[in-house]
Amino acid sequence: MDNCIFCKIINKEIPATKVYESDRVIAFLDINPIEKGHMLIVPKQHWKNLADVKLDTEKEIEIYEELMYIVRVATKAVITTKLADGANILQCNNACAGQTVDHLHFHVIPRYGSELATVPAFNSGAAKYEPNEAQALAEKLSSAIAAIVKDEELL
Ligand code: 5GP
Ligand code: ZN
Repeated sequence: MDNCIFCKIINKEIPATKVYESDRVIAFLDINPIEKGHMLIVPKQHWKNLADVKLDTEKEIEIYEELMYIVRVATKAVITTKLADGANILQCNNACAGQTVDHLHFHVIPRYGSELATVPAFNSGAAKYEPNEAQALAEKLSSAIAAIVKDEELL
């Protein structure tokens, strides 16, 4: 994909500090880390974000599976090596959710110490439901999830 910074890293047109690479997935340090060891886990397939992922072919399924697998492994590596005490996974879809690079990626952000790290963008409790609103929303989401699962025929 032209003008995609992560495709340029994948194509070795610009450098990155890699922590993992296969035919399907690459992981490297974020250039502007929230914490030391902040990694980005990136599929080599250019999908904009999770809503853009296609699972129509074996190859696409394998890329997606390996992507999710490496998110888990990178998180486990942070914790089992005692590099850090914990980790956040962050993944942004579209600008309103903070997506600045339009190539799917997961952030694995090590967290240090025993203090509760606050994540300012996640203002728990800021939204309040009207009566019955949560149930109606859950039903809408539930139908949409069921329709996508049926359509993708993977489960
Ligand atoms: P987003 O906000 O889209 O979820 O995150 C994009 C991330 O990509 C940011 O944390 C930013 O620091 C990182 N980033 C942007 N350009 C580059 C780059 O050229 N190299 C690396 N390693 N990270 C980048
Ligand atoms: Zn790309």
